Amino acid sequence: MSDLTREKALTGKVAVVTGGASGIGLASAEIMLAEGATVVIVDRDDIALANLKEQYGDELHTVTADLLDSEQCAALIPRILETIQVIDIFHANAGLYVGGDLTDASHEAIDRMLNLNINVVMKNVHDVLPHMKERGTGDIFITSSLAGHFPTPWEPVYASSKWAMQCFVQTIRRQVCSFGVRVGSVSPGPVITSLLSDWPEEKLEEAKASGSLMEAKEVAETLLFMATRPRHVTIRDVVIMPSQFDL
Ligand code: NAD
Repeated sequence: MSDLTREKALTGKVAVVTGGASGIGLASAEIMLAEGATVVIVDRDDIALANLKEQYGDELHTVTADLLDSEQCAALIPRILETIQVIDIFHANAGLYVGGDLTDASHEAIDRMLNLNINVVMKNVHDVLPHMKERGTGDIFITSSLAGHFPTPWEPVYASSKWAMQCFVQTIRRQVCSFGVRVGSVSPGPVITSLLSDWPEEKLEEAKASGSLMEAKEVAETLLFMATRPRHVTIRDVVIMPSQFDL
């Protein structure tokens, strides 16, 4: 079948991507749009959202929300369900980075990062699960990190958030699999996005010099593969890293 005539893999599906206005989230949103899904991008960056809306028109829905604001976070899933009624795929992706020595990070930066990288993800999944359980179907994908699997000593705060995330993914999956809901995570190594600008400079230079950086599209392609498996198959947790990256 030629590419023009094949049915798009996500036709009829509704996908929500948090932190979808840039980087990995945007690549995820774009690949799902290209595969026929109705996509809702959630982000705090209203200027980037307005530009994307102009680019994609009616195909794309956008929700401006600062997920670190507890009221906006609590309103998110009800707000989407009120307008679109269905969520087939929820990609919990919004995240912050704090690198460097623990003592370099302020208490406030630690709070914000842990709040967004763990608490907000749990709260979003908490709110979307009843809807998916009631329908007996749904996919929850979480952007974790290589730092959630290997100790990365240049980023103890960030790595701790992603190890906690891996624990959450593995436990919640067991609670919901009998309801037809799949939970998977994708754990990339360094990806060229704005988040990398917060990496310790020396580490970034090292990664650039060894050519061990990936494109956001490579992560999105992995997510698409997970989302398009037959319902009786769950791809659990994919670690995707540059071949040159030595840990
Ligand atoms: P990014 O900075 O390009 O994208 C993050 C997006 O989240 C931005 O659009 C930002 O506006 C949004 N966001 C931030 N705080 C928000 C908030 N409070 N409310 C709503 N939206 C908010 O970074 P990225 O690299 O694409 O990161 C996405 C995810 O990928 C994160 O969870 C990150 O931990 C993970 N990750 C990134 C890398 C990497 O090397 N870039 C590697 C592994 C994992």
